[in-house]
Amino acid sequence: MTRARVVRMTEDHLDDKALREAGEILKRGGLVAFPTETVYGLGGNALDPEASKKIYAAKGRPSDNPLIVHIAEIGALDRIVKNVPEKAKKLADAWWPGPLTMIFDKTDEVPLETTGGLDTVAVRFPSNKIAMHMIRYAGGYVAAPSANTSGRPSPTLAEHVEEDLGGVIDMIIDGGQVDIGLESTIIDFTVDPPAILRPGYINREMAQEVIGEVTVDPGILPANSNIRPKAPGMKYRHYAPKADLTIIEGEPEQVEAAIRKLADEQTKAGKKVGIICTDESAEAYKTGDIHDIGNRTEEETIARHLYEILRDFDDENVDVIYSESFYTPKIGQAIMNRLMKAAGHKVRAAEDILSGQNQ
Ligand code: AMP
Ligand code: MG
Repeated sequence: MTRARVVRMTEDHLDDKALREAGEILKRGGLVAFPTETVYGLGGNALDPEASKKIYAAKGRPSDNPLIVHIAEIGALDRIVKNVPEKAKKLADAWWPGPLTMIFDKTDEVPLETTGGLDTVAVRFPSNKIAMHMIRYAGGYVAAPSANTSGRPSPTLAEHVEEDLGGVIDMIIDGGQVDIGLESTIIDFTVDPPAILRPGYINREMAQEVIGEVTVDPGILPANSNIRPKAPGMKYRHYAPKADLTIIEGEPEQVEAAIRKLADEQTKAGKKVGIICTDESAEAYKTGDIHDIGNRTEEETIARHLYEILRDFDDENVDVIYSESFYTPKIGQAIMNRLMKAAGHKVRAAEDILSGQNQ
């Protein structure tokens, strides 16, 4: 296959001709990567089993990991979903279009190829205008997982998509850097109270403000890494850089000292070291490939830069990565969920490192 055609546009200056072409490609069963407010998606016609199979093949994604169906108007739910509980309608009123995915019982219109064999379907109405127009031109139902090779961090720039999938898909719509940078919040409405299966920009409190009690799938909490999560995709070691990543926790000064110590030791041992720090701590580090994720008080910046930094480390071929932790008030749970997965849950206390204790 020739390399994917790349078209550029912004939400303020849509290229209607290119969007129509993208829609035609999708209707014919082809694959188009496109920006959303969360991460880039790899789109195929959600109602066409062959298109879904192509998505799995392009990503190298395990076939039991279902795809999210993207719609561009609320009315589109009727065809693919058996019933929409009142609470889901309320949450859709508050957060759609937006970074929220909801799970419902599916109708027969949705092929099992799209849902990884499940009789439920995950649906999202994204707010990105490029995505919205493309979905409409495609006929209204676009299955789209993140547009990365399976196992790599999700793409937040079109360049990431080009790198992973440029050789195996038809078209890439480059809409610049995405806004949020972490995948959507997934809430399961086939149970009551509804359950969060994947944390995202919309956190538990924000959902509870609208619909009352919402639970969190115990399988996604770090302390329960042996419980099988209900969203099949959450069991895989996602979001992973190639290098070994460890998260260091503790008081900021101790964390800086501990990471400095580890970086010095590893550098002396001939290893290439990567460090994830913040504006506040960047000065504290002298050795290693130092990546500043942003200001500690600006959690949206931290979320937006995380995957890009993990990919940069891959390009720079670092051997080990040390990261500070980011328990920020709103998006912190989602940020730490992704960082923990990237680290394979490897967390060490700064104190232990400074006192010379091994893990
Ligand atoms: P991605 O599109 O790559 O962000 O991955 C989609 C995520 O949604 C994966 O973690 C899936 O396991 C999850 N998902 C999609 N459909 C369902 C469903 N019907 N039930 C539970 N989880 C789902
Ligand atoms: Mg993904």
